[in-house]
Amino acid sequence: WPRVPGLGHSGSGSTLLGYIGIDTIIEQMRKKTMKAGFDFNIMIVGHSGLGKSTLVNTLFKSQVSRWSSGWGGEHKIPKTVEIKAVSHVIEEGGVKMKLTVIDTPGFGDQINNENCWDPISKYINEQYEKFLKEEVNIARKKRIPDTRVHCCLYFISPTGHSLRQLDIEFMKHLSRVVNIIPVIAKSDTMTPDEKNEFKHRVRKELETHGIEYYPQNEFDDDMEDKNENDKIREAMPFAVVGSDKEFQVNGKRVLGRKTAWGVVEVENPNHCEFALLRDFLIRSHLQDLKEVTHNIHYETYRARRLNDNGGLHPISANNTQESNL
Ligand code: GDP
Ligand code: MG
Repeated sequence: WPRVPGLGHSGSGSTLLGYIGIDTIIEQMRKKTMKAGFDFNIMIVGHSGLGKSTLVNTLFKSQVSRWSSGWGGEHKIPKTVEIKAVSHVIEEGGVKMKLTVIDTPGFGDQINNENCWDPISKYINEQYEKFLKEEVNIARKKRIPDTRVHCCLYFISPTGHSLRQLDIEFMKHLSRVVNIIPVIAKSDTMTPDEKNEFKHRVRKELETHGIEYYPQNEFDDDMEDKNENDKIREAMPFAVVGSDKEFQVNGKRVLGRKTAWGVVEVENPNHCEFALLRDFLIRSHLQDLKEVTHNIHYETYRARRLNDNGGLHPISANNTQESNL
């Protein structure tokens, strides 16, 4: 664009024409976002007892997962993988987030876990399909409700040995359709040395099997992005600890777990990497998780779906609703 003389060279605006107010767009956007709120959908996968429910509750500091420890006492393991979504509205600083936690009880709990990721990948694709149907409607909603899975936390058992075949198969299949963030569960059960060695081994194995977890190398926007994400990738998978119990440490109430050596403080970066995961997931990359879901995973689904249909025909295959394409 040609530059208008006298405009915008200095931060203080033009001396000749005066202030226009372009920079107020930021405040306008902030107000709109605050009013509208936003959706964030997180899926948790891993075999039962790995602390999935506890960790999401710790992340959002409330009982966002219904199957938290102690809920209704003993819970029995379902015979097949179930998909359970629970939504909550969480508000902080005037900003509303509709959080949906998608739990997958039964995953990896059977003797034969062959294809047990099928119901999970089906669920993920169904959400893309729902969004696509809404998008191609003539009477398109101003704001399409977003049920797409923005992030899948995959819980690795703290065995200290290596990944299980199931871990590899799941992440291999699903990393193409959703943002996978692997975490090492219950890391308070390992010594610091065991933990570091295990993390190193897991990273190697993921690399060997060509598993691309989030944040994926290929989607780094620029050098700044790449440098920041490289640091995160080198620290992954985060070795986490979850808890809903408070302890008194140096006069402060902290979330933690009591062990033979003392209290493992969940939010203390010297004790575990919970805070790293929380900062990454919520404070620095939440918007990016949503964007990668929309621009890459959903877009891939959409292109394939429209292609399969010759691009022009109605896409409603199961005719629950007439398509208006
Ligand atoms: P889920 O089946 O994966 O959802 O696991 P839960 O969150 O229900 O936790 C199962 C059990 O493990 C409960 O007794 C929790 O108190 C315990 N637990 C949860 N997180 C941790 C952790 O980080 N470390 C340890 N040692 N135990 C944990
Ligand atoms: Mg659970």
